[in-house]
Amino acid sequence: MSFSAHIITLFPDLFPGPLGASVLGRGLQDGLWRLNATQLRDFATDRHRTVDDTPSGGGAGMVLKPDILAKAIDAVAPAGDPRPRLLMSPRGRPLTQKRAHELALGPGAIIVCGRFEGVDQRVIEARQLEEISIGDYVLAGGEVASMVLLEAVVRLIPGVLGAQESRDEESFENGLLEYPQYTRPQTFEGRDIPPILTSGDHGKIARWRHEQSLALTQARRPDLLKES
Ligand code: SAH
Repeated sequence: MSFSAHIITLFPDLFPGPLGASVLGRGLQDGLWRLNATQLRDFATDRHRTVDDTPSGGGAGMVLKPDILAKAIDAVAPAGDPRPRLLMSPRGRPLTQKRAHELALGPGAIIVCGRFEGVDQRVIEARQLEEISIGDYVLAGGEVASMVLLEAVVRLIPGVLGAQESRDEESFENGLLEYPQYTRPQTFEGRDIPPILTSGDHGKIARWRHEQSLALTQARRPDLLKES
């Protein structure tokens, strides 16, 4: 069984969107992974297909109703569905390459996209939704965030990306940012490719790249060095 993602959203037409392009799109066509998007509004019970209501305690905006969202989750993932249930949320634990690897090894994911002010806390608890953030800023909805998450995860599914080795030295894979990359022409606007890269000495090249990675990480993301 291939990795199967199921999105719950008020905007199912946004999918697959960018996930349908390039290697991820080809993987989707080839059945290496699967994607469904369900319209949350289909689970509303009133004539107006209401999915949200005003916040208890007052304040601006609207909150997604727990009963409607729970019905959607139960329909998409009946009891026993092994897939983790995720909620895109700026309050969530930040998405990492490590979590992306874990998800890529699993059966897929149910992904709830919030809108408006967010989601009633009780459905987060009752359906054990794992809140995941894609960064410390606020988007208008969870759809783009879910695409970011899926793009990070799906490219790690075996067979989706071509050369396996192109991943091992990527940023975050070894706790470091990636070294600078170069390609032809040999001279660009007066700047040369560092001579060591054209020396043919693979040991020296590997050492140079590692030093560059370390220096970049030290300068830009010292927090990554402390983590490891
Ligand atoms: N009032 C909320 C923000 C709601 S934004 C707060 O202050 O925490 C509306 C929806 O966009 C959220 O429910 C979530 O699904 C999505 N969203 C916004 N920012 C996000 C982020 N950084 N990561 C993941 N999802 C995000």
